[in-house]
Amino acid sequence: MALQSVLDEIRKRPGKGEVIPVIDPVTEEQITEFTDCGEQAVDDAVARARSSFEAGAWHGMAARERAKIMWRIADLMDEHTDELAQLDSLNTGMPLAQAKMIVPSCAEFFRYYAGWCTKLNGTAHEVQMQGGVSGTFAEMHAYTLKEPYGVVGLIFPWNGPVFNACGKIAPALAAGCSSVVKPAEETPLSAVLLEKIIAEAGVPDGVVNLLLGYGHTAGAALTAHPDVEKIAFTGSTEVGKHIVQAASGNLKKVMLELGGKSPVLIYDDADLNMAIMMAAMGIFVHSGQGCVCGSRIFVQRGVYDQVVEGIATIANSLKLGGPQEEGSNIGPLISQKQLTRVMGFIDEGKRDGVEVVTGGHRLDRRGYFVHPTVLTNVDPAMRLYQQEIFGPVVTILPFDDDDEAVAMANDSTYGLAATVWTTNLARAHRLAKRLQAGTVTLNCQLVFDHDVPFGGYKQSGWGHEFGHSGVDAYLQTKSVWAQL
Ligand code: NAD
Repeated sequence: MALQSVLDEIRKRPGKGEVIPVIDPVTEEQITEFTDCGEQAVDDAVARARSSFEAGAWHGMAARERAKIMWRIADLMDEHTDELAQLDSLNTGMPLAQAKMIVPSCAEFFRYYAGWCTKLNGTAHEVQMQGGVSGTFAEMHAYTLKEPYGVVGLIFPWNGPVFNACGKIAPALAAGCSSVVKPAEETPLSAVLLEKIIAEAGVPDGVVNLLLGYGHTAGAALTAHPDVEKIAFTGSTEVGKHIVQAASGNLKKVMLELGGKSPVLIYDDADLNMAIMMAAMGIFVHSGQGCVCGSRIFVQRGVYDQVVEGIATIANSLKLGGPQEEGSNIGPLISQKQLTRVMGFIDEGKRDGVEVVTGGHRLDRRGYFVHPTVLTNVDPAMRLYQQEIFGPVVTILPFDDDDEAVAMANDSTYGLAATVWTTNLARAHRLAKRLQAGTVTLNCQLVFDHDVPFGGYKQSGWGHEFGHSGVDAYLQTKSVWAQL
């Protein structure tokens, strides 16, 4: 499916609400538009998912057959890597090379979870129960069954459209759930091609249903829907709290992957070249629009100036630009809304006396580009230090010892990720235990594997994605007892 046909098709999709423009964040021009699906479409999609589930169209199929279809999805995604990457790159402004690196790993979600289809077994238990007045023991047998929840709603943000979609659709399919999928309104493009690929691979009608619309319309209706058993949501902590409230009507289960304000600790014995490079890329990659971006860096006092200077030098060396612009390695923010938000934090910090080591301004050109920004002299009470900015903005503060570093790192309502750079491995592992984060990376950043669970501590989430826990999230456990 060529790029242009996705742009045309999305325009023609039926809808009942507002017309939503899709904006190229590099040019600020409209790429295409679509109509918000409206509430009736949510009801219809849930009904289609329900009837496919009740008919056993997918979960009733032999697990090994489902696995083959999931492999086919991955193979088709490989065939369409260029188009999927182009769509995400056009829609988010991320460099094409970066999108091309990400898409193959999105296809791997389907291969990885295809392997789980045949291994979703329960447990067997030998039990005895005291029976009747005689006090004799009855021989019993008990076992558990792992069963799909049923109809699940999958809602995710714009920062990695194909990645976010596959990270949810693949485990839901492996578990045997039928799903209603709602991508972010800013980035609907690649989801349209993915929908076609999933159908072409042989997933029966009604098992994966795509809805395009706003969060406050389509997303809210899906979350509150009485016939949806679970919502798997990735997005901001603020919206995560709305999801929890909206889900209470039928007490649907909720999985949340939320925001972060992840600390990076750099010790004076670290491999400083590597630490500086990775800490800089760990915040500036994708213009800071990654949930695990290390937006609070803490540096041991003896090497503080060196690290601040090193990170600022890298910030200044990055070439911002659109996917079509020669040599650009960092794209824009996603939208005017996000630009206003990020600049709001920076301007407030300037008024409150932070030192802008570099950056602190948007680029003097079209597009939502913000210069990678390094801030020091930051008071921990400041909003920009406490809240997730989701832009290329980092604060760097000094520390003296482990206790101070841990106290500063843990002083956050978030707990998504944390990083330690030190050659003292005993200290690194001690700190891994003390840091309040769902993922701790030691002498590395920006790491990912489909098999490693990912989830947030504190207000960064509920539950886990990826790995066995990722598919378990779409299964419920039934205990079966039998008297022998
Ligand atoms: P967002 O919370 O505004 O939106 C995320 C999704 O929720 C979108 O599809 C949106 O349409 C939908 N939505 C909005 N309001 C809704 C409502 N009332 N009911 C149901 N759905 C609703 O987030 P965003 O600004 O698009 O994305 C950035 C956020 O996502 C950041 O906070 C980032 O940290 C987080 N994020 C987290 C992870 C993770 O794995 N923890 C990964 C990527 C992004």
